[in-house]
Amino acid sequence: MKQRAQQHISNCPICGGKQIDEYLKTRDYFYTQEEFTLTQCRDCKFVFTNPIPSLSQLSDYYETPDYLSHTVNKFSPKGFVYDKIRDINIRRKFKLITKYKQQGKILDIGQGTGELLKYFSTKGWETIGVEPNDSAREFSKKKYGLKVFEESELDQFQSGSFDIITLWHVLEHVPDLNSRMKQIKRLLKKDGCLFIAVPVLDSPDSLRYKEFWAALDVPRHLYHFTPQSIDDLLNSHGFSLKEKYPMKFDAYYVSMLSEQYKKTKLPYFRAACNGFRSNRTARQTGNYSSMIFVAEQK
Ligand SMILES: [Zn+2]
Repeated sequence: MKQRAQQHISNCPICGGKQIDEYLKTRDYFYTQEEFTLTQCRDCKFVFTNPIPSLSQLSDYYETPDYLSHTVNKFSPKGFVYDKIRDINIRRKFKLITKYKQQGKILDIGQGTGELLKYFSTKGWETIGVEPNDSAREFSKKKYGLKVFEESELDQFQSGSFDIITLWHVLEHVPDLNSRMKQIKRLLKKDGCLFIAVPVLDSPDSLRYKEFWAALDVPRHLYHFTPQSIDDLLNSHGFSLKEKYPMKFDAYYVSMLSEQYKKTKLPYFRAACNGFRSNRTARQTGNYSSMIFVAEQK
């Protein structure tokens, strides 16, 4: 890789605090093997990758053919299993969202190849997708006939356009967190619902794997949320947290990747055990490997 330009973050993205301590050193185990540092705000305890690659170079870190959520129709056993799990997840997400709104207009930010919105459209919903990856965007337009836009085009939508806005493992990737939250606030109807899914830094599998925890995924993950920091972020943008839900499968998937990064023997067996343990402990603490947070406007 070419020489990297970096951007230092001197204020906490959530509370603006200036006292920032080193938290953990880790690597981009998924792709470049480069080392990155996580830092923590002394005031609100929010953890974020710091420094991060400059904006112009951040996209380079997504340019691996293996970046699974953007893989377009490449048949492999791993891809097949991924597709099956994705279908189950789509039905679960639909069921969850329709607990809050039975019908309406949904915006999925970071929709990938658009399978979730395709499912919603077959159920009579009006759908809009946003996706920065060109080939994923074109794929979902061609294959599913979806309305999909680049992120910059979101400004053209009228205020209060959407009943539901969703970000599934997307918010941790967004460079300007506060602008994005302001934009979401503007686009959501007054009685609309916001669904945010993120990995949880204080989950049992994160505490077990530490710098090898695959959901750190630096530098693609810029923020490392906890239920507390999500609550703080939502509050600072005029939202209130209504409910949170576990994503139990993520404990297994993330444990499997983490075992691979650690180069342990019997990674699948260990991942199965540790995934199970993580969910079992999380039943007490409430902090699962990944969680869905549902918010409303205050
Ligand atoms: Zn802070």
